[in-house]
Amino acid sequence: MAVLKVAKLGNPILRQTAKSLNPEKIRNDQDIQALIDDMIETMRVEHGVGLAAPQVSRALRIVVLECQGSERYPDKGGFPLMVLVNPVFTRRSRKVVKGWEGCLSLPDLRGLVTRSSEVELEAYDRFGERLVIKADGFLAIALQHEIDHLDGIVFLDRLPDLAHLAYQEEFDAYWAEDASVTEI
Ligand code: ZN
Repeated sequence: MAVLKVAKLGNPILRQTAKSLNPEKIRNDQDIQALIDDMIETMRVEHGVGLAAPQVSRALRIVVLECQGSERYPDKGGFPLMVLVNPVFTRRSRKVVKGWEGCLSLPDLRGLVTRSSEVELEAYDRFGERLVIKADGFLAIALQHEIDHLDGIVFLDRLPDLAHLAYQEEFDAYWAEDASVTEI
């Protein structure tokens, strides 16, 4: 396994629409299996709770997520390792929640983003088996953030008010007291 370089804002790969994979070929595709292993390792080393393939310069519809016993997010519900291929939302609630987000591709920036509070989606796992996922809370937000990356969308695009965009240092000084941040 290897830690991959994370593409930062300004790298055109982050603005591309990623390509779907053939689910029947995932299991035996060594390149894809190695990519997934490397994405998991990169997410863990970089202390993210999610990573999308375009963030490691591969325009493919793959995301990985994990949040287990994080000291960094003590108030967030954890979730196990997930590998999602070709994820598609089948439902996004009209009810929304606001939360501060960060992103490994936009280091040092924080923004207050509005997301659906509950989602349902279909995807394939890394072996090409079908998955149906229902999520709320932190996982619902993380899923929306990661799957946006597959369509060239970053959290900045979801900010209802640019006054709620902050560098980490100023976030800590002015906003952090009553907010926690989700680094996705
Ligand atoms: Zn991100």
